[in-house]
Amino acid sequence: MKIIFLGTNGWFETDTGNTLCVLVKSRDYDIVLDAGSGFFRLDRYVDGTRPVYLLLSHFHMDHISGLHGLSKINCSMGLSIIGQTGTRNVIDTIVNRPFTVPVDRLSYKTEVLELPADHGRVPFGLEYLPMTHSDPCLGYRVTVDGKTVAFCTDTGYCENAVNLGRNSDLLITECAFRSGESNHAWPHLNPETAARIALEAGASRLVLTHFDAARYITAGDREKAAISARGVFPGTVHSHDFMEMAI
Ligand SMILES: [Zn+2]
Ligand SMILES: [Zn+2]
Repeated sequence: MKIIFLGTNGWFETDTGNTLCVLVKSRDYDIVLDAGSGFFRLDRYVDGTRPVYLLLSHFHMDHISGLHGLSKINCSMGLSIIGQTGTRNVIDTIVNRPFTVPVDRLSYKTEVLELPADHGRVPFGLEYLPMTHSDPCLGYRVTVDGKTVAFCTDTGYCENAVNLGRNSDLLITECAFRSGESNHAWPHLNPETAARIALEAGASRLVLTHFDAARYITAGDREKAAISARGVFPGTVHSHDFMEMAI
């Protein structure tokens, strides 16, 4: 299975990265984690030969702005957008006039699956738990092709992130804060708290992503975060746009 990081910034895009989007290419499905501006690059990797499943963590703009690019992606085998209760209403609102091309004008079939109501229609292993964030946000655990990938973004340290990452082959977490930084009113992870989640979960590897655009200016800032995180969890790397890894 191949994991491709298409956008690795949080909040807004910079020369260092687009906002969050990760592609999990499995044997039978193209699974996309969030639709920040990295989503605009999806057409280079998705060719319509597999059904596409888009998992949305929440609706902050750095996780959905790429939906404006739906019309340039080849989803000939269909697109299923998966998210928390209320996702259908959000999609009906923003993937519509006057914001962008309406869903019913796309050249392929699109459906929205809301959790928990439509969980039974997801064709691969999927677990989800609420994250600790300013607005409702879901973390995910995807099991497909015998591998498990956990995706915990926009959250402070929480037990739910540890539970989703439990014994995973790959844990992907956000890293919006700099080393040692915290804020109880607006929780996010720093390199050490992200690494603590990976350590407590017994994950095989940790990838840091969703680097806050105002705090992480250069690629070197990310490298320093990974070095700090490795002091807690040695199997940590930082992501950058277009990074690919096989698990
Ligand atoms: Zn975010
Ligand atoms: Zn957010």
